[in-house]
Amino acid sequence: MKSSVCELCGRSPVETTVHHLIPREEGGSYGPTANLCRTCHKQIHAIYTNNELAVRLDTLERLRQDEKISKYIKWIRKQPAETQLRVRKSNERKRRR
Ligand SMILES: [Zn+2]
Ligand SMILES: [Zn+2]
Repeated sequence: MKSSVCELCGRSPVETTVHHLIPREEGGSYGPTANLCRTCHKQIHAIYTNNELAVRLDTLERLRQDEKISKYIKWIRKQPAETQLRVRKSNERKRRR
């Protein structure tokens, strides 16, 4: 597990993953990459298709300026860095008496 700074939301320390700015499926295997925290990475792929990323959002600058992700960045910046690692368990069942 590697701790560093997320290039999108700027939080640290977070565990980062490598994002291909042009997805590999779109031919970006040897293209530029960015280190993103898992939350940001998941978010990007949830919002955009690989094709959108390759055509329109192939730099961090462009990503940040996109309305959908900039809203998300504003929100995530307020979240503590460890949020993504917290697992909440609620085993509150069997309440019969
Ligand atoms: Zn992030
Ligand atoms: Zn990615």
